[in-house]
Amino acid sequence: MSIQMVDLKGQYLKIKDEVDAAIQDVIDSTAFINGTPVKEFASNLAQYLSVKHVIPCGNGTDALQVSLMALDLKPGDEVIVPCFTYAATAEVIALLGLTPVLVDVDPDTFQVNVAEIEKHISPKTKAIVPVHLFGQCADMEAILVLANEHNIAVVEDNAQAFGATYTFSDGSRVSAGCMGHLGTTSFFPSKNLGCYGDGGAIFTNDDQLAEKARMICNHGQKKKYHHSMVGVNSRLDSIQAAVLNVKLNYLDTYASHRNYVADYYDRVLGNDSRFTIPKRMNNSSHVFHQYTLKLNHLDRAELQEHLKKSGIPSTVYYPVPLNEQEAYKSVGSYPITQDLCTRVLSLPMSTELTDEQLELITNTLVNF
Ligand SMILES: *Cc1c(COP(=O)(O)O)cnc(C)c1O
Repeated sequence: MSIQMVDLKGQYLKIKDEVDAAIQDVIDSTAFINGTPVKEFASNLAQYLSVKHVIPCGNGTDALQVSLMALDLKPGDEVIVPCFTYAATAEVIALLGLTPVLVDVDPDTFQVNVAEIEKHISPKTKAIVPVHLFGQCADMEAILVLANEHNIAVVEDNAQAFGATYTFSDGSRVSAGCMGHLGTTSFFPSKNLGCYGDGGAIFTNDDQLAEKARMICNHGQKKKYHHSMVGVNSRLDSIQAAVLNVKLNYLDTYASHRNYVADYYDRVLGNDSRFTIPKRMNNSSHVFHQYTLKLNHLDRAELQEHLKKSGIPSTVYYPVPLNEQEAYKSVGSYPITQDLCTRVLSLPMSTELTDEQLELITNTLVNF
């Protein structure tokens, strides 16, 4: 009974026939780039998300980079980004010569703190990149109001909450990644909708931004060999799209199993004061990309060692705040992120975890 953080093999075996056939079809067609599965996937995804444009690309980092390029930002423009996130979010900002402005997060939901965003808005602020961390949406209604007031673009980094939805106060429900000017996601294998290599996509309801993002992904050309702007080469290949077309049909089933696992953890660990279970946002659904505990006065390394002895993996997302990273040093004050980095621990979360495994994991934690 081997437990993994993400059980990609177990998941594959259940859909092996469908996935193998889809991959073989691509090989038979030899249309490895921009083949039919890519167009089908973009269209299936647009329908699933109820968004006007889906632009598939090479990976989630490219999706962020291309989105920021499509906004025509100038070197020195400031882009607000949470301090508690994967480095890719800040990396593309810095890479484009823009200035990442880090802001602290909420201690309970781990999402970017909107009051902190407001405090960091300056005349140079041109974009906000909220990250829907661990599987639920940041407080998008408040962020969009603020962005609108200050005429700032919003690019949602939705690498971790693909399939989640956010409910606005007027009752309308919108998919994560489709609320801002642009949204991005990653199909890295361990993401909630993962392919068998690298992949990503950009979402937007804005025709002009869509056209621009599409051109940037394709060397800045609309017509072959006519390059009207500097772009990049970023494509989702046909084999990855074929895998994603199969897996998209299972995404909601996967999300409900992840919620089952999260509910199980909540039920057992919620009674133990040494563990603070992750708080759920009021107006967002949760797809539990990660199930992340806060440890109260526990030695994290010792606990991880204790789990490991029973064959249970665990991971720290993230051990170092962005402001302390050599590449993104910032003088600001980030007490919440700093504290979280010392206390968080993510438990195994996958579509394949069984009750027997969940019992072992939770017993091992409670018996620490
Ligand atoms: C995974 C991830 C990315 C990057 O996606 P890649 O496909 O690996 O480039 C960006 N942002 C966040 C929050 C992520 O979790």
